[in-house]
Amino acid sequence: MVNNMEFILCPLCASPKIKKKRGTLEFKIRETLITTPVVGYWYCSNCGESFLDHEANRIIDEELRLKTSRRKEIILHSLN
Ligand SMILES: [Zn+2]
Repeated sequence: MVNNMEFILCPLCASPKIKKKRGTLEFKIRETLITTPVVGYWYCSNCGESFLDHEANRIIDEELRLKTSRRKEIILHSLN
């Protein structure tokens, strides 16, 4: 088992306001909107940046391999 990464401080702005969240991700490839299952990610409420964990990255990579190599804007839908 590989542990998911843990953040105490935001890697971008060093704020402690970073929190683990779960939710779905949506991203658009050309005209197609792709929605992932619920995945974990980290969200910093100080700078607004989000960091996907390994599970989320793996799911997105698999989706992209099936479709195209181009990743566009990712929209987060938080459940908490
Ligand atoms: Zn931050």
